[in-house]
Amino acid sequence: MTKTAVIIVAAGRGTRAGGTLPKQWQMLGGAEASMRVIDHTVARFRTQADQIVVVHHPDDLDLAQSLENVILVPGGATRAASVRAGLEALVGHGIDKVLIHDAARALVPETVIKGVKDALNQHQGAAPALAVTDALWRGAISQDASETGNFVEGTQDRSGLFRAQTPQGFAFEAILAAHRTHEGDAADDVEVARAAGIKVAITRGAEENFKITHPEDFARADALLRQQEQETTQMDMRVGNGYDVHRFGAGDHVWLCGVKVPHGRSLQGHSDADVGMHALTDAIYGALARGDIGQHFPPSDPQWKGAESHIFLRHAIGLAREMGYELMNCDVTVVCERPKVGPHAQAMREALAEIMGVDVEKVSVKATTSERLGFTGREEGIASLATVALIRR
Ligand code: MG
Repeated sequence: MTKTAVIIVAAGRGTRAGGTLPKQWQMLGGAEASMRVIDHTVARFRTQADQIVVVHHPDDLDLAQSLENVILVPGGATRAASVRAGLEALVGHGIDKVLIHDAARALVPETVIKGVKDALNQHQGAAPALAVTDALWRGAISQDASETGNFVEGTQDRSGLFRAQTPQGFAFEAILAAHRTHEGDAADDVEVARAAGIKVAITRGAEENFKITHPEDFARADALLRQQEQETTQMDMRVGNGYDVHRFGAGDHVWLCGVKVPHGRSLQGHSDADVGMHALTDAIYGALARGDIGQHFPPSDPQWKGAESHIFLRHAIGLAREMGYELMNCDVTVVCERPKVGPHAQAMREALAEIMGVDVEKVSVKATTSERLGFTGREEGIASLATVALIRR
């Protein structure tokens, strides 16, 4: 299998972003921030690389030591020297592909990283970029740098121009050889690669993959992070299904979805045999990937004999909440010829909603017959199916 490493270059001492710490070691994420710029950057590569190298300034070792499961490498006098040090640290690790990334591009999207990795299946080098869309000028910059001292001196054709980003990816041995022979500094690793004759494919960059450089960049990054967190929350939904059957025996009522319904026979089972509530409970366990009723309440255990099924449902929804989920909605179908469920459906919805502590609008109970076919059609028992959607709170 291909082994990919990432070298995160964090050796700069730039404090253009304000503050006394270099930008990559500053907190990101507003007042409640718990992660630094570099923590975000490292996190983005956790699932994308088998090995993470962080090249830090020798003076920043104390700051770097809190990073876990990374190889820490002291950087050199130039960016190129720092990358070279990172590459040398990977020799002997069986690395096939290496991505080289600026620590300050903390919000690099997964799609950008994957784009580079995919392109490396075809090419020795690949790097993300965005086409230049603004008009370009040449200008004279005044010595005093006052805002009114600069003048446009010409325009520049922007066609074929790109804004380079990172991670810049390469076949490991090729870029290692290129850095070993490269003299002096370079703007980036694409420059080093091209000087050594490596062709570099351009992959799709992203606006959010910007370099946190100035104080206002922190505010922009904070806002983007908040937006991404919300999107992740919205996407974190789990779905489960449940199915249960109980057979008829002697009796004068059945328990269905928490409602006692008069009937000429009763459902048999270890508990109260509420087939609808069992299907719903199993659907919740299923959505959580936490087994089924039998696992949590073994039928072999006498303490659950004749148990009221709301105990099971309360346990399942409680487990969901412990794991950070809330019921989005559920839908229970009862399959039987008799008793007629329709007249009790509203009471069943209310009973289930109350047990789960949710609004009745989130709970559906409906019924169908099986056209006199099969065991439900022959009235040997009742079957029930349930579907549940849980959403991260
Ligand atoms: Mg059951």
